[in-house]
Amino acid sequence: MITTTIAEPRPVAAAYDGDARAVHTAPERLVGLKCRECGRAFPIEPIHVCDFCFGPLEVEYNFDVIRQSTTRESIERGPRNIWRYGDLLPVERLADTGWRVGYTPLQPAPNLGKALGLNDLWIKNDAVNPTYSFKDRVVAVASAKAREFGFDTFACASTGNLASAVAAAGVRVGLKTYVFLPWDTEPSKILNALVYGAHVIAIKGTYDDVNRLCSEIADEKNWAFCNINVRPYYSEGSKTLAFETAEQLGWEAPDHVVVPIASGSLLTKITKGFGELQKVGLIPQKTVRVSGAQASGCNPVAHAFSEGWDAVKPVHRPDTVAKSLAIGNPADGYYVLRIVRERGGAVAEANNEEIGEGMRLLAATEGVFAETAGGVTVAVLKKLAEQGIVKRGERVVAYITGNGLKTLEAVIPHLTQPPLVEPTLDAFDSFLRGEQVQRLGASPTL
Ligand SMILES: *Cc1c(COP(=O)(O)O)cnc(C)c1O
Ligand SMILES: [Zn+2]
Repeated sequence: MITTTIAEPRPVAAAYDGDARAVHTAPERLVGLKCRECGRAFPIEPIHVCDFCFGPLEVEYNFDVIRQSTTRESIERGPRNIWRYGDLLPVERLADTGWRVGYTPLQPAPNLGKALGLNDLWIKNDAVNPTYSFKDRVVAVASAKAREFGFDTFACASTGNLASAVAAAGVRVGLKTYVFLPWDTEPSKILNALVYGAHVIAIKGTYDDVNRLCSEIADEKNWAFCNINVRPYYSEGSKTLAFETAEQLGWEAPDHVVVPIASGSLLTKITKGFGELQKVGLIPQKTVRVSGAQASGCNPVAHAFSEGWDAVKPVHRPDTVAKSLAIGNPADGYYVLRIVRERGGAVAEANNEEIGEGMRLLAATEGVFAETAGGVTVAVLKKLAEQGIVKRGERVVAYITGNGLKTLEAVIPHLTQPPLVEPTLDAFDSFLRGEQVQRLGASPTL
């Protein structure tokens, strides 16, 4: 039970635009929470595990109600952000509709497709969200729900991107923020949380240590923790990546999606998102093939997939440049394995070298500069295409979830340092003739 009384939030009226509406008047749209394992029902509260079997709780909707109220046209009239799919999200009121979270470009990727031998490849570019990763989607839903529940403090255990998303959302909706990160998180990701005024706390340990500590803090303090007590609502935000993809393809699901995996929540929710659009009759029935991408230095799901295991064996010392994906004990790993196997996909991995090369290749072919997680996705897509698991003729969507400017370190070894030329035409001509070879300082100073 939440007992804190909270002050009114800081005024954010200027942040709202004309799209702000209260559309969710049908109370029966949201049924409650339901245990994914034993099916027991729970009320809509800040809880995330089943008291009976410790299974994860998920939001349950009444899809008959949604089917009647929601049409392609009603969605298309909505705000150009995730709240256009508000009927399929677990909030009572539309939140900060003046902030452009989501509705990111789905762009055809013919050049990368050609390089990988794929005829119909698309890139969903979530690097352009307000804090430069897909985490703004999940956090927008979690922060709205935290306000509805009456919390005054919003917190998270983060591998990097969640921290900045939480910090910025706190500013937008008027919540104090505490973000906990492993001490070796990229400096730019720490900076990207500090700048919004969050309490940023570096923990001497891995992400799994941070997460464990946060579970203990969540038991003590009356705070909304994104990936703990409000996780059932938080994770629903990832479905909007599937909703947008289908809408942008003309209300049709793609044939095959490739999704990076940290906890595995994103992959399971993208799959669920396509399923829900089918349930409410917004897109035709189809089994979307789903594949996952991990880094070799933190590959618990890819390893379990290749061994044919049902359960995931945790990785205790993650060691990869893809720090945003470095969750050694992924909460949704088991569900990811089930989904991928049922749908004829695969989970594969990429090493640091391949990740940096994937980042460079995506930028050089499609003009999209992705962070390491994007490098993982592109490198894994390349392998799956070579193995014939992703097929030449399939309509494939690769999810690019974060921005390259946050992980510059990883791509530097894959770039040639710029030449250093004297400011004269002669010097430039001699450089063009190949006579000028002096270069700026060596990596990683660039
Ligand atoms: C968090 C994150 C993911 C994956 O998230 P999960 O839902 O935990 O699997 C993917 N890409 C980026 C850039 C992330 O920050
Ligand atoms: Zn249960």
